[in-house]
Amino acid sequence: MTEQEKSRILELVELVNKYSYEYHVNDNPLISDKDYDKLFYELVDLEQKTGYVLPNSPTKRIGAEPLDKFEKAKHLSKLYSLDKAQTNQEIQEWYERNQKIQKHIEEFSVEYKFDGLAMEIIYENGILIKAITRGNGEIGEDVTEQIKTIKTVPLTIKCKDLLGIQGEAIMRLSALKVYNKKAGEPLKNARNAAAGAVRNLDPKETAKRRLDFVAYNVNYSRSTQFLTQEQIHNFLIEEGFFCGEYFVLAHSINEIYDQIKIVTAQRKNLDYLIDGMVIKVNSIADRQELGFTERFPRGMVAYKFEPEEATTILKNIVWQVGRTGKITPVAELEPIEIGGTTIARATLNNVGDIRRKNIKINSRVFICRSNEVIPEILGVAECFNDSVDVEPPKICPACGTKLVEEGANLFCPNEKECEPQIIGRLVHFASKNAMNIEGISDKTALQLHNKLSVNYPSDLYSLTKNQLERLEKFKEKKSNNIYNSIQNSKKTNLTRFIYALGIDGIGKKTANVLSKRFKTLEGLIAAKREDLISLDDIAEITADNVILYFKNHMQEVNRLIDMGITISTNDEQSNERLLLSGEKIVLTGTLQSYSRNEATAILESLGAEVQSNVTKTTSLVIAGNNAGSKLQKAQNWGIKIINEIEFLELLNKKQ
Ligand code: NAD
Repeated sequence: MTEQEKSRILELVELVNKYSYEYHVNDNPLISDKDYDKLFYELVDLEQKTGYVLPNSPTKRIGAEPLDKFEKAKHLSKLYSLDKAQTNQEIQEWYERNQKIQKHIEEFSVEYKFDGLAMEIIYENGILIKAITRGNGEIGEDVTEQIKTIKTVPLTIKCKDLLGIQGEAIMRLSALKVYNKKAGEPLKNARNAAAGAVRNLDPKETAKRRLDFVAYNVNYSRSTQFLTQEQIHNFLIEEGFFCGEYFVLAHSINEIYDQIKIVTAQRKNLDYLIDGMVIKVNSIADRQELGFTERFPRGMVAYKFEPEEATTILKNIVWQVGRTGKITPVAELEPIEIGGTTIARATLNNVGDIRRKNIKINSRVFICRSNEVIPEILGVAECFNDSVDVEPPKICPACGTKLVEEGANLFCPNEKECEPQIIGRLVHFASKNAMNIEGISDKTALQLHNKLSVNYPSDLYSLTKNQLERLEKFKEKKSNNIYNSIQNSKKTNLTRFIYALGIDGIGKKTANVLSKRFKTLEGLIAAKREDLISLDDIAEITADNVILYFKNHMQEVNRLIDMGITISTNDEQSNERLLLSGEKIVLTGTLQSYSRNEATAILESLGAEVQSNVTKTTSLVIAGNNAGSKLQKAQNWGIKIINEIEFLELLNKKQ
C-alpha cells in the first residue's frame, strides 16, 4: 500500500463518517446521495485493493448510532443494509455469484425500494408494543409514540405471535406539497421530511406531517413460519399494512430487467419516493443458505435508479425580467452532471423563495432535475466562510425603474417601456400554442419594437407589408409571410386567445380549463373571484391575477378585438389532434404499471377509443401478463399488438 493510498483511506473514512452522521443522525444531508455513494465506493475499492480497513470504517457499519435524545431499543433481529447494483451487468454479477452457491435459484421477488426512514415495528399478542428506527442495525431509537400517529400503522393485528415488521416511514409527495405551502422553511425532500418527522421528540409534530408507513418484511417471528417472500408480502397485506402497489415474481434475469424497465418508466407517476428496486431470492430457506455479510444479506440486491439530485456551488445570481414584469432570480452554478445532462443554471423562482430557503452565494446547494425541464434549487447543503447573503435588486436590471414587491415576487411596473417585457409579451403572443404567428423570434420582436414602435400585441395588427420590408433582412417574401401569418391569426379560439394574453400563471392547460368553463371572452371577463377559485386547477393567486389582468388591460383587450380578432368557442375548432386520436384500442391481460381503469383513462385522455372486445375495427391491442383469447384473436386477424413496455414507451412520447 502506498502512502498516498493510506492517507486517502484516512481522508475518506473521516469524510464518509461525517456525511453519514449528518444524513442518518441529523436528517440533514450535506451532499447528494450520488456524491456520497461515489466516496463510499471509492473507499470500498481502496480497502479491497490494499486490505487496509480502519476499525471505524463506514464500510463495516450499517447506518449510524442512535440519537441520545431518544431512549435506545434493541431490534428483535438485526436490520441490514442492502448490496447495491446500478446496471443490469451488476445484477447479472449478483445473480451469478448466487448461482455458484445455489444452482437452483430461479424465483425472485421484485419490489420497490422505498426511500424513507427504515424501522422495525414490534407486535406481541396482536398489539403494537414498540417502534424502533434502524439506527446501527442492532440498536435504534425508540419512536413508538411518534409511529403511533401514523394512520397506516395498524395499532393491532390479528396474529398473536411476537413479530418484527420491517418497513419505511415515508412522506407522500402530495403531503409534502401541502406541508411546504404553509411551512416557514420548506422541507428539502420527502425522505428527509419523513426522517425528521419521526425523529422529533414531540409526536404532535410527527402527526402534522401526515406520514405513511410502508411494510416490506417480517424481520423476526417467534413461531410463524414463512417459506417465501411472497408469503410474507401477502401476510402483511392481510394484516392491514400498506405495502405499496407493486410486488412481482420474476423467473429469470430477463424478467427482472423487464420489470426494472417498466418501473423506471412509470415511477414518476408515484406519489412517494422510490430510489430503486429490491430483488430478493423468493425462498427464505435459500436466502438463509446464502447468508449475510457484515452489512447485507447475499440473497437480496438493490438496483438504484440514476439520481435526480446533486449538489454544487452557487456562484452567482442574475435577475431576469419576464414578460409580466416579474423579476426571476436565476442561479449560475459550478457545472454539474445529473442524469447525463450538464447543468450550469437553475431557477430560484422568486425573491421569497431565496429568503425561505436561506440561499447564499458561494454556498453548496441541492439541485433537482426531475420531470421538470428547468432544474431547481431545493435548498442549501453547506455554507462556507465566504458564503454571503443574496442582495435582491432595488431597480429593474433592464430599465432602471424602481421595483415593487408583491407577495413573494419583485416586479418592474414599467410595462410600457421595459424592453424585456415588451419583447417577451410579443414573442409569447405570437407563439405556436398562442396566436401561432410565424417568424416572431426575439430578434424580430426587438426590431419590431425599436423600428416600428410595436409595444403591445395589438400593434402587430396595424403593420403594413411596406413597414415590414423596412426591417433588416426582411425581403418581400419574408415580409409577406409574416404579414399573412398575422392576418390569419385573427381567426382563433378562446383557449389560444386566453393563453396569448400572457396572464401570470395561465398556461395552456389552465387556459383550456377557463375557456371550457366560461365559453366566451365576455364570460371570462365577468367571472368573479369565487367562480375562478371553484375550478380545480385555479389557485387563489392565479384567480387574483386573472381579475387584476382584466382590470388593468381592458384597453389592450378591446383594441385586439377592434383589430378584427374573432374568437370561436373551442368546440368549433377542436380539431387539434391528440397522440392517439382515431385509434381503437383493446386492453387485455394484467398490466403491472396501471390498473385497467387507469390505463383506460390515460388512453382516452390521449384521444383513443377503448374497446372491450377485439373487432375488425380494432387498430391496436395492448397485451399484459396472462393475456388470453383476445390476444389470440388479434394475432389471428393480424392486428398490431404491443406489450406493456412498448405501451409505456408510447406514453413517454406524449411528453
Ligand atoms: P439504502 O437505504 O440505500 O438501502 C438499504 C435499505 O433499503 C434497507 O436497509 C431498507 O431499509 C431499505 N428498503 C427500502 N425498500 C425495501 C424493500 N422493498 N426491501 C428491503 N429493504 C428495503 O442503504 P443504507 O445503507 O441504508 O444507506 C446508504 C444510502 O443512504 C447511500 O447509498 C446513500 O444513498 C444514502 N446516504 C446519503 C448520505 C448523504 O449525505 N447524502 C449519507 C449517508 C447515506
